[in-house]
Amino acid sequence: MTEHAAAPVRIFCIGRNYAEHARELGSEPPAAPVVFMKPATCLVAPGHDIAFPEHGRDLQHEVELVLRIGRGGRAIHAAEALAHVDAVTVGVDLTLRDVQTELKGKGLPWEACKAFEQSAPLGEFVPVGGLDVGDIAFWCDVNGERRQTGNSGGMTFDCAALVAHLSRIWTLRPGDLVYTGTPAGVGPLRPGDQFVAGAEGIGRYTWRIAG
Ligand code: MG
Repeated sequence: MTEHAAAPVRIFCIGRNYAEHARELGSEPPAAPVVFMKPATCLVAPGHDIAFPEHGRDLQHEVELVLRIGRGGRAIHAAEALAHVDAVTVGVDLTLRDVQTELKGKGLPWEACKAFEQSAPLGEFVPVGGLDVGDIAFWCDVNGERRQTGNSGGMTFDCAALVAHLSRIWTLRPGDLVYTGTPAGVGPLRPGDQFVAGAEGIGRYTWRIAG
């Protein structure tokens, strides 16, 4: 990975932030951002193999735009929030859907389905510069087939709203990452699959499920 402002310590992730994806999982878009976290030890740089987790069967890709906080802060106003984001890339919020369904059904925490080893493939950051984070097209291909397409303009809570929301709960620090949610089209990954996450103006990054 390149261009880090600081080593990432925290990875904030947003659930159900695109209406169509919320519906494909049988949920309605939430009234406030749904937040969970992955440890930074889950990150996987492009080009690496990912081991299929042993504690689940239905491993799924969720391609997401990822923000990096460049300037920390607390209780950041939405109007100022984008000035705290210094770089952007795409990542994949790997999810064990069968384990998630079981945990959700029991009202239990999500770590086993979302925060397992190697669950956060991450592209290389590019400076926000002239990019409009409210209008970035991005996608996920599996074995050369397009599986997900989205645009950050389709978020229920946009990037500024997410940064503002998180900063009311935590003091944001340089290097914190935000996986901003996935559009519709999530689906399975199997041993041997190669998957690519890409975004307009950012790049395309490849991983492989070992096996
Ligand atoms: Mg996700």
